[in-house]
Amino acid sequence: MSRLGLKPRYSFGSLHSLMLKTPKLPTLNFQALKALAADATTAVSKTASAQSSSSTSAPCSCAASDSTGWISSPASLSDSDFQEVGTLLQDPFVEPTFAEFHPDGTRYDSPDAPIAPRYFPYNRCTVSTCKKCGRAYLRYTEAGGYFVDRRIRALSVEKLVDAKVED
Ligand SMILES: [Zn+2]
Repeated sequence: MSRLGLKPRYSFGSLHSLMLKTPKLPTLNFQALKALAADATTAVSKTASAQSSSSTSAPCSCAASDSTGWISSPASLSDSDFQEVGTLLQDPFVEPTFAEFHPDGTRYDSPDAPIAPRYFPYNRCTVSTCKKCGRAYLRYTEAGGYFVDRRIRALSVEKLVDAKVED
């Protein structure tokens, strides 16, 4: 009778793959992004009303610079001020389009430019919320030949447009 079958069997393979796993941001579809934007708006208005009742109306440091349209991330803000909650990059193996969506003649950095998640630059953004006030932001890194620039834009539910990309 063989006793080999009673030997404990460790699967080093599965343990190894577990250790290699890095925390991965969830990919957000349009509905998830919209829900997140709406949640953040609610969180901020709650914070704002709590602040006005205690007669402190100083805005959160994340809102000190107007990021209604795209801006370079202010030096006063660091990654540690934000909690990344998801990404709009749908497929890490496919480079998303550089086409922009401006049906009403807006420009890249127009404050009223639509937020169309399938179009540039939204299609390579991560979505983050401010750890202090809960405001939601879109962020990505603009990389040129000689520079790297962190860009940030406030996520506004009113500006979200679920526009399809045409081939
Ligand atoms: Zn904030």
